[in-house]
Amino acid sequence: MIAFFTLGTSPYFITFFYNSSYFYDGSYSYFYTFLVLLHCTLISYIVTLLIGLIQHKNTRRVIQILLIGISSILFILNIYCIFELHSLVDSDYIMLMLGTNVNEATEFASTQIPFSIILGIIGVFLSLIVLWLFSMRHPFKLGKKWSIIALGLILICTMKEIYRWGIWRDGPIYHITELCTTLNDYSMPDDSQLKHTPPSISYIDNQEAPTNVVLIIGESFARFHSSLYGYDKLTNPNLKVLYDKSLLFCFDSINAPAPTTSLSLQYMLTTFNREDNKRHITKWYEHHSVIELMKECGFDCYWFSNQARAGNFNYIARVFAESCKQYFFFQREGAMDYNNRYDIVLVDSSYQFVQKLNVQNQHNFIIYHMMGSHFDYDKRYPDEFNHFSENEYLKYPKNQRQILATYDNSLLYNDYVVNQIINIYKDVETIILYVPDHGQDMFRSSPDHHTHGKMNDPVSYAYGIEIPFMIYASPSYQEKHPDVVERIKYCQSHTKAWNSENLPYLIMDLIGVKEINHEDIRSKSVLN
Ligand SMILES: [Zn+2]
Repeated sequence: MIAFFTLGTSPYFITFFYNSSYFYDGSYSYFYTFLVLLHCTLISYIVTLLIGLIQHKNTRRVIQILLIGISSILFILNIYCIFELHSLVDSDYIMLMLGTNVNEATEFASTQIPFSIILGIIGVFLSLIVLWLFSMRHPFKLGKKWSIIALGLILICTMKEIYRWGIWRDGPIYHITELCTTLNDYSMPDDSQLKHTPPSISYIDNQEAPTNVVLIIGESFARFHSSLYGYDKLTNPNLKVLYDKSLLFCFDSINAPAPTTSLSLQYMLTTFNREDNKRHITKWYEHHSVIELMKECGFDCYWFSNQARAGNFNYIARVFAESCKQYFFFQREGAMDYNNRYDIVLVDSSYQFVQKLNVQNQHNFIIYHMMGSHFDYDKRYPDEFNHFSENEYLKYPKNQRQILATYDNSLLYNDYVVNQIINIYKDVETIILYVPDHGQDMFRSSPDHHTHGKMNDPVSYAYGIEIPFMIYASPSYQEKHPDVVERIKYCQSHTKAWNSENLPYLIMDLIGVKEINHEDIRSKSVLN
């Protein structure tokens, strides 16, 4: 037993440092920080205890080295994310890193990681080595009496842990299991797997497809932060004007299929659904994508993205983009890009392009993939949109005010950009859908969590998938398709729960398709 307290024989300290880096988030209260620290200490101690039980010296060494290696990498990642991105490492970052090739990653590391952070990390590791050498020379041994007292204290802490079970959600084990859940649901095809037989499509006889169908994929928009859905801050002033003119229609009770980008897109943009995923029979890329369906219906497809194009292994969006006639990516590293471009680049880049398209009198399907309100929220809008400030959020706890203000500012900017995109199409026969990939938890499930809904926490998950959903119909569209507009108006006022995983069916419904692959469209369309 005494040996367990000998610092030099275990990876205790590094494990501890990695674990405890989880609470440097600045948004935690001191007491909560203390409890998370306790939680981390306990996990570190149990790990140490288990390793100490291994009799075979070499096996113990190998495990210790592995553990130290992995925890050191996680420690560095955590420190970087917390100090630079003000959030913990999460599945989005891992996805982004998996999708970045080695050259890009080293280039990114050399230009983006501030020297002070590198110095700090080296400092921590040096002091750990000194501590380790010191403990080798002066082993720290407890007598029998003190060992019993220490074990007693740990037991008390464990009881407290179980009592405050919520802390579990901010500890490292939870984050790792969440990451595994996400990665488990995630798979990428190779090129040969993307070749499908063309879908079989049957049309409604009397309906003609519109000139333009536009899909705006937003990012991280929580419905309960939209003034169009009753939020008390005016976050959608421009879209409200369109709404009042009956050009824009808002649907309530809409959920996203997942709380993270990659997972959500694989459902939203293909006929794959969550039921298929549960049954494990098919993968998302074995189903027809909305791009393939639109091509089959005679549409030319174009993709404008302000999110990262990323590397070979990753980024589901890239698979869809590359199947379009033309595609444009304006961001290299995505949310982590420090020279990031604001979403208005989507308007500037597509304006002339669309003017030319409209002259040609074809059917076009244009997709915009926005950076929207991806955290860090304050990186998503220019200074002139710094409209909401901390002082307007006094009814919220202090740690939340600044974050809520920047989030709402990013939504205000989002409102401006979406309105500008709509303006490009206002004089042409166009129907536009705005749907974010998922929502944001925004402190609803716990006073300390504000980014994605957590995969393994039902309350956080539910908030994380609550999204706004809007359809804009241009005046000339409304004139040509009064029957469709009537259906939209009816469904707007008769709330119906709908999941955006059925988006391809809605789009097919809007252009007059009756069946795809002998499957009825209307039952899955929100306009049913
Ligand atoms: Zn997202």
